[in-house]
Parts: sequence; structure tokens; C-alpha cells
Amino acid sequence: MTLALGCIADDYTGASDLANTLTRAGLRTVQTIGVPADDLALPEVDAVVVSLKSRSIEAGLAVSRSRAAETWLRGRGASHVLFKICSTFDSTDAGNIGPVMDALRTYGGEGVVLVTPAFPETGRTVYQGNLFVGAVPLNESPLKDHPLNPMHDSNLVRVLARQSKTQIGLVDLATVTRGAEAVRARLAELSGKGIGAAIIDAVFDRDLETIGLVAAGHRLSVGASGMGLGLARALVSTGKVKSTAASSEAGAAVGGPAACLAGSCSQATLQQIANAEGVMPVLHLDPDRIIAGKDEVQRALAWAKPRLADGPVLIASSSTPDQVAALQARHGRDAAGHAIEQAMADIAEGLVRAGVKRLIVAGGETSGAVVDRLRIPGFLVGVEIAAGVPVLRAVGAEAGEMLLALKSGNFGGAAFFTDALGLMR
Ligand code: ADP
Repeated sequence: MTLALGCIADDYTGASDLANTLTRAGLRTVQTIGVPADDLALPEVDAVVVSLKSRSIEAGLAVSRSRAAETWLRGRGASHVLFKICSTFDSTDAGNIGPVMDALRTYGGEGVVLVTPAFPETGRTVYQGNLFVGAVPLNESPLKDHPLNPMHDSNLVRVLARQSKTQIGLVDLATVTRGAEAVRARLAELSGKGIGAAIIDAVFDRDLETIGLVAAGHRLSVGASGMGLGLARALVSTGKVKSTAASSEAGAAVGGPAACLAGSCSQATLQQIANAEGVMPVLHLDPDRIIAGKDEVQRALAWAKPRLADGPVLIASSSTPDQVAALQARHGRDAAGHAIEQAMADIAEGLVRAGVKRLIVAGGETSGAVVDRLRIPGFLVGVEIAAGVPVLRAVGAEAGEMLLALKSGNFGGAAFFTDALGLMR
């Protein structure tokens, strides 16, 4: 298999977002959790997104992990690698966007690297090198107070120049609007001045398409899901990839018992649980008992197992904001959260051992704990159940064939659990 596109994402949720964007654009896409083992058996796909957690770690580590991911992707034939960053350019003067870009550029033999976090459908646009979040420049957006990566400068040419060893240039919107040839001419000009990377403006999807056409001819690009969209559309429009409707293979039936787990306490999830009460058996866990020890996990599994043959079940730790605050006051926020996440992972493991083949998880952190515990190396991305929440088919999982849906916080409509079950056969 030869990959048309390889991607290295600096966090898991960003990776999922990108994988979903590529799938919607017609690319058969697998998202892996970390750098996969060499012998991971992949289905026939166009793109692989390797998910790292390298956004806020020490720069040297981010470089070595990204290089390992790149080696794996190039080894699978990826001639273009997209380094996927956050659409708000989350980074500090110490990195990690600049150092990772520099390393990939050195080893990838790239001339001028195109860089843009623009993703217009989520309100991220870049003009004259300045990143806007909705109507305001980055440094006036809530990102100015981000706990790990406070962003005080909206001018990305300056931001990236502080992190990178190479000089940074700009390809402005007027040039992008004139089309791919104008962009290529501008890049040749920048390259002649010894510039190694350029922030490129994008305000509309059509700008991303132009950028994608140019970037697809390079070995490396840096951007958010918008850059992924541009690349995917370019690969399809130039015939390098034959567009496929969200993989029928990803959604092919696995049969077997189904279960839902809810660890999110968001408004949307509480509503979705209430909705499920009318359709399937629901067990509400006792969060105090979870924190006290393991018997709540055993109680949940003893409750679920005899019911699985009759249809899906839902197990929820979720409670209302008042109850959550009270529990956190008694046990501490992190301790309570961690104990409940691990209990949900224990329950997921027990359910899969009991034969569950279709698993729906509500909660971002909860999903992370469950996927880690089930040691699932990757997912083939399928159709969307709700905006941003696709059906996922486990790839290389110890438990064999499995379908999952991982929903963070406020995603999905009131009937999310039944919507998901309807698409996961
Ligand atoms: P979301 O995507 O809605 O943010 P997460 O799973 O990321 O959901 O986060 C929810 C957090 O709340 C997790 O750490 C989870 O363990 C914790 N949690 C779940 N149920 C409760 C509860 N009843 N009280 C307090 N914390 C809870």
C-alpha cells in the first residue's frame, strides 16, 4: 500500500478532527494512537493520521516522536507529510511547532514549507499573517489566557520566527487569490532569499484548495484541519486519490452485543442519557462508591452481563453540575476525575471480555482512558453520527473486530446513543 498522505498530529482530539475532515473529503483514513508497530496490518487506505501527545511536552521529545512518526509514514510511501497543529497555533517561544517543523524539513529535504492554521469553518482565518479567532485577532481571543500556551501575538510570521531556526516569510491573500501558479512564483522568490518556511493567508475554503494544490507538490506542510481539507481536495481533484464515500468497510457490520458508557457530565450528555432511559436499560453508578474502591465496577458488570443478549445497555457515572461540584469538594477534582475514568476503563474492559463488539463512549477524557485500556492501536474512520463524531472501526485491536463511537462533551443531539447504535450494526 502507498499512502497518498501522511499526517502527524500533536494531540489526539486534533488528530480525530483531521481524520474526520479527510474522510468527509473522500479519503479512506486511519487514525493511529501513537506511532504504530511496524507490523500493524492496515486496511487499504489513502491517509494515516498518527496521533501524538506532543503539543506541550519538551521540544526535543516532540521532535524525536514526530521524526519516528515521519519515518513510519514515509516507510508506507507517504510522499507528503502534514504536521497537524492546533488551529489556534498553540505553542510557546520554546516550541513545539518551530522545532518539529525544522526537524521534519531537514530530514524531508523541503524547500519553503507552507504553514497555515486557517480553518474557516471553525472561524480560524489568516490575513497578512495574522490569525483571527472568529472576529478578533488571536491575542485578543480567550487563547491569550491559555494555561499552557498563552498566545500574546497574532502575527504568526513573528511567532514562528521566534521558534524556528529558518527565516519565515509570508504569502499574502492577494497572491493566494491569483491561484496556484502565483503562489509557486512567490515561493520561488522567497526561496531565493533563503527563506525556509512561509505563513500563507487563507480566509475561505477556496484559498485552502489553492494552498492544497501547491502543498501537494511538496514533501511537507504545517497546518490545522483546514490544510488537511485543502490537501485532500487537491489529491481528489488531481486524480491521485479516487474519492470514496465514508468507507463502507469502516461501517461494515460486526454484530455482537452493544454497550454505551457515559463519563461526561455535560448538558448534552445528561440530556442524551435521559433520552436513552426510554429505549434501553440504564445503570447510574454511584461516584462515591467508585472512589471508595472497586466493587462498583463489579456491580456494573454483574448488572450488564445478563442484559447484553437482549440489546444495548447504558452505564453512566454522569451527574448534575451541583452533584459534580459536591463530589469534587469531598475528594478533589483530579482524584475524582481520575478514579471515575479508570473505573469506566475497567468496565469497558470487562464488557469487551464479555463479548461487547460495539461500544459508544461519551466524554473526551473518558474515551481516552477507555481506548488506552483496550489497547486499540488505531481506527478506520467511517460515517458521521453527529457533526465531528464518526463511527470508528478498530484496527489491530486485541479484541478483534469492533466498532466504537467516541463523543466528547457537548457533541451530538438528544438521541445520540440511538443514532449511534443505528449506524453501528
Ligand atoms: P467531557 O468531554 O464532557 O469533558 P470528559 O470525559 O472529558 O467529558 O470529562 C469528564 C470528567 O468528569 C472525567 O474526568 C470523569 O471521570 C469525571 N466524572 C464523571 N462522572 C463524574 C461525577 N459524577 N462527578 C464528578 N466527576 C465525574
